[in-house]
Amino acid sequence: MATFGNLTDRLADTFKNLRGKGKLSEADVDGTVREIRRALLEADVALEVVKQFTGRVRERALGHEVSAALNPAQQVVQIVNDELVTILGGEARRIQFAKNPPTVIMLAGLQGAGKTTLAGKLSKWLAADGHTPLLVAADLQRPNAVTQLQVVAEQAGVAVFAPEPGNGKGDPVKVSKQAMKFAKDKQHDVVIIDTAGRLGVDAELMKQAANIRKAVDPDEVLFVIDAMIGQDAVTTARAFQEGVDFTGVVLSKLDGDARGGAALSVASITGRPIMFASTGEGLDDFEPFHPDRMASRILD
Ligand code: GDP
Repeated sequence: MATFGNLTDRLADTFKNLRGKGKLSEADVDGTVREIRRALLEADVALEVVKQFTGRVRERALGHEVSAALNPAQQVVQIVNDELVTILGGEARRIQFAKNPPTVIMLAGLQGAGKTTLAGKLSKWLAADGHTPLLVAADLQRPNAVTQLQVVAEQAGVAVFAPEPGNGKGDPVKVSKQAMKFAKDKQHDVVIIDTAGRLGVDAELMKQAANIRKAVDPDEVLFVIDAMIGQDAVTTARAFQEGVDFTGVVLSKLDGDARGGAALSVASITGRPIMFASTGEGLDDFEPFHPDRMASRILD
């Protein structure tokens, strides 16, 4: 994966230095951990995550608690793999569908993060699985947002609920509530609400998103984050966690040549699982996120 190319190469070089070694000395382990630390920092992983990560790798590498069937170099690779899976959230987590439909999924994130595109991707994916999603245009800030969602809905072949065109400054809470009623009447089993984003985190945006959350009581709130934003990922994720709270993370633009730090930091920082990955502009460039597969790709 382009995003992690550099990190993959750096880690491979580090492991190469261990090859052929018998028992690892404390100095060997420390040298390795130092290189892993440097590689992660260069990939823009948040410092606090790097510290935790390298601390655990060191402890386990010195503790020899991995399978005796592996040689020392393989053991270190195994430990790094395990710890990558851990910081990426451990087990894969799926959407929690409501017992009484509709299941409500709210999308939040900065402007340009990829929310509207995700609404299309997610609804197409759900529709292919037999669901009948309704997309809701609750981003009434950006003049084009409603039209953009309508276009995406048409491409995905799903229904959309939007305020009348020209009614630019509507009330997104009201629209969301009306959409819920509409979904129940028309028996849509999933409602996906696209909310407004700003260029930076701001109080008004958070309040609006929090109000929508309160009004529709979603089953999932997905925080969409652009993998390219690097070190800003930490502050942005924390602000959304405090402002709206979310149940899961979607990483977008993993196809770009970002260094991947956001991807590797955000689950660990917020304690919320990464649930989906977006890997392109097309509606099919999207997949459920599996921490173990991502770790293997990074170490490939
Ligand atoms: P929103 O403001 O959060 O709704 O973001 P949009 O969905 O409008 O996306 C902003 C831009 O990023 C658009 O040009 C999308 O085509 C593009 N985009 C969204 N997701 C991806 C992705 O996974 N990869 C790439 N390369 N571009 C994406």
